[in-house]
Amino acid sequence: MKGQDLRPPFQAAGGCVPSEWEKLPTPCYLLDEGALAENARILGSLAARTGCRILLAQKAFSNFNLYPLFQGKLAGTEASGLYEARLGAEEMPEGEVHVFCAAYREDEFEELLQYADHIVFNSPAQLLKFGPSARAAGKSTGLRINPECSTQEGHAIYDPCAPGSRLGTTRAQWDAAVSAHSQLPSLLDGLHFHTLCEQDSDALETTLDAVSRQYGDLLSHMKWLNFGGGHHITRPGYDMERLERCIARANREWGVQVYLEPGEACALNAGFLLTRVLDVVKNGEVQTAVLDASAACHMPDVIEMPYRPPLLYGDEPGKLPFSCRLAGPTCLAGDVIGDYSFLEPLKEGDLLVFGDMAIYTTCKNNTFNGMPLPAIFARSEDGKCRKLAEFGYKDFKGRLGR
Ligand SMILES: *Cc1c(COP(=O)(O)O)cnc(C)c1O
Repeated sequence: MKGQDLRPPFQAAGGCVPSEWEKLPTPCYLLDEGALAENARILGSLAARTGCRILLAQKAFSNFNLYPLFQGKLAGTEASGLYEARLGAEEMPEGEVHVFCAAYREDEFEELLQYADHIVFNSPAQLLKFGPSARAAGKSTGLRINPECSTQEGHAIYDPCAPGSRLGTTRAQWDAAVSAHSQLPSLLDGLHFHTLCEQDSDALETTLDAVSRQYGDLLSHMKWLNFGGGHHITRPGYDMERLERCIARANREWGVQVYLEPGEACALNAGFLLTRVLDVVKNGEVQTAVLDASAACHMPDVIEMPYRPPLLYGDEPGKLPFSCRLAGPTCLAGDVIGDYSFLEPLKEGDLLVFGDMAIYTTCKNNTFNGMPLPAIFARSEDGKCRKLAEFGYKDFKGRLGR
């Protein structure tokens, strides 16, 4: 079976998972190298066509063993702080390391300078405090702006442009800071915005209009403009041409180098979570399969975002003859993955395969309830699976004391 066949939307019925998967321990993550390489190819050709530089936002995907798949396609990594910056410097050493953090710590900043090439500050105060030493160390410095342009509905916790947001500097905040500290503009090489989440390029275009209106005069003095993440570039149907027009516009109007730092788009639809049914319980009309994987522990965005992950050979509830709720084994009543339907009733021992599980999973899971962390496997393009990491009791206990 080729990687492509296993990309969502999954075929709803019929078929079976590759036999090699039956031998994997559950729960486990299975990262699909073919799908990652295809995402890398799409991003690499965008960069080659437009001259933009694309960074892997490691907070979404940081399985560094697979970073070589992005080599020659991505320009480097983006980090949320010291540890991710160090990981990027160690594991994608040929690339640039960019970092954005809502507030840097004084006791970490010196070390951060060892790893980072671009340092983006969230506020004028942080720029004043750390900008001079960053520049003295030869780093490129930037400010995250808040263009006050919300383009998403429904996901309020993912909207950094919401009123009162702490993320980014509004034009009014910047002007007030500059009138008190006239040296501020001289500390800047670039501007950065990150306002999108799983969005198409129409939202980027709207945002870029707002950026142009509010910060166009500053941008003419900048070397670079970072468009942040949230661009769903590798999703089928994404409007690539509109993105290319946005990049060309920034090049033309302000003469800036454009950076993109997608997380999701790098590893979209490029991983699975394999789990087995431990028990099936029925309460009134509701039948629930209790799995050995937990939404709360192993796919936290299912609850946090929230969303219903694609399931291989499962359909919308009611579509196929047997509907069943899928849930985790923890004590949390809301540890529910979602409602699905199947050709046959689920029974103890059945193997289930969730899709799109490479992003915000392996780097975001936890051991709530003492749940084991799933092992991580990689699936090479010839279909062979190999173990990247496994975990045990010591990983649970070791975080709590010694
Ligand atoms: C989260 C984040 C990204 C990546 O976002 P995706 O939605 O995964 O593409 C990039 N840059 C910054 C500053 C972020 O906070």
